[in-house]
Amino acid sequence: MRKNFVCRFPDGTSRNWRDWRWQLRHRATSLSALARFLERPSGGGEKLRSALSRYPMAITPYYLSLIQPDNDQDPLALQCVPDAREAAFSAGLADDPLREDRSMPVPNLIQRYPDRVLAIVTHRCATYCRHCSRKRFWKTSEDSSLKSRLTAMVRHVSKTPQIREVILSGGDPLMFDDASLELILSAFASIPHVEVLRIGSRAPVVLPMRITGNLCRILKRHRPLWFNTQFNHPSEITPDAARACNRIQEAGIPVSNQSVLLKGVNDSPEVMKSLLNGLQKISVRPYYLFHCEPARGCNHFRTDVRTGLKLMDKLRQSCSGLALPQYVADLPGREGKAPLWPLSRPIRNALRKHQDFFDNFEELD
Ligand SMILES: *Cc1c(COP(=O)(O)O)cnc(C)c1O
Ligand code: SF4
Repeated sequence: MRKNFVCRFPDGTSRNWRDWRWQLRHRATSLSALARFLERPSGGGEKLRSALSRYPMAITPYYLSLIQPDNDQDPLALQCVPDAREAAFSAGLADDPLREDRSMPVPNLIQRYPDRVLAIVTHRCATYCRHCSRKRFWKTSEDSSLKSRLTAMVRHVSKTPQIREVILSGGDPLMFDDASLELILSAFASIPHVEVLRIGSRAPVVLPMRITGNLCRILKRHRPLWFNTQFNHPSEITPDAARACNRIQEAGIPVSNQSVLLKGVNDSPEVMKSLLNGLQKISVRPYYLFHCEPARGCNHFRTDVRTGLKLMDKLRQSCSGLALPQYVADLPGREGKAPLWPLSRPIRNALRKHQDFFDNFEELD
């Protein structure tokens, strides 16, 4: 954290700083608020204002404190500060590139695989990631109360015995208070054929104070529970974030990481290596590296697949296998996540020497 950052808030005591609700109440949500912390013009151009009116901004004081104020290419700032390019709605980009709306048997429940479903339990997040592929939801209010939304989802899962895993996603499920979260977890856990729960949350990265002792006790009661978070840059692995992950792990819950490959943020081998090694050091398992989806408002983050494949080829040699994520592109509909695996010339040549490998693996159908 930048020194004395907390003093910039009138009620900025270190006790308040550690209170996640205080963090949420003090999020930067306007360009003028941002200008108090970062050295950049507060007005913005027309494009920027248009981007902002379509995709709101919210940044927790904690995450803001990690940004270098005088660097407008700061990799954390790129992830949360609105950019005029979000308003450039290029042809070919869709609000919902995965057509998730077509895979919802009931509102907010996405089923693209027979055995697991993803529940969008809220549209809210602590800090809005500018690269979010579900940014289309940010301005949509929750259409009914949590209980009635949950009832329909739970009913569908109950009558579909093939479903053995429920993923709580959003938005960020940890935006709920502990009691509501307990309600959601228990509702799904009490379905006899649901064997495993999973939470996808960026709280350890953008709001680590949310990981309280009480929260961990609730999570622990709902094991087997798997926790996926999203670190995209090594500067996000702070002592606070590491402590948050450690608390979850101490409750007996494995923590994995899903990064998004983002231009200017983590698309270099050095940065990615340092991110992966950093995660390995805090026992967080790199799980997926997502190729950035062609979602509207995210185009400026997209790299080409070749960049990603080259990156993975380098990492394969320079990182521990335990720290190597699977590079995937999420595809619309039932195809799911397609692994993108680099087959560099040396690997192809090595495999060619072993004809039985080479003949067999290309033609799997
Ligand atoms: C990614 C995803 C899952 C989980 O896939 P895993 O490969 O098991 O991590 C489940 N449902 C939906 C809709 C998804 O997008
Ligand atoms: S935390 Fe997840 S859902 Fe929320 S804005 Fe970031 S990527 Fe999107």
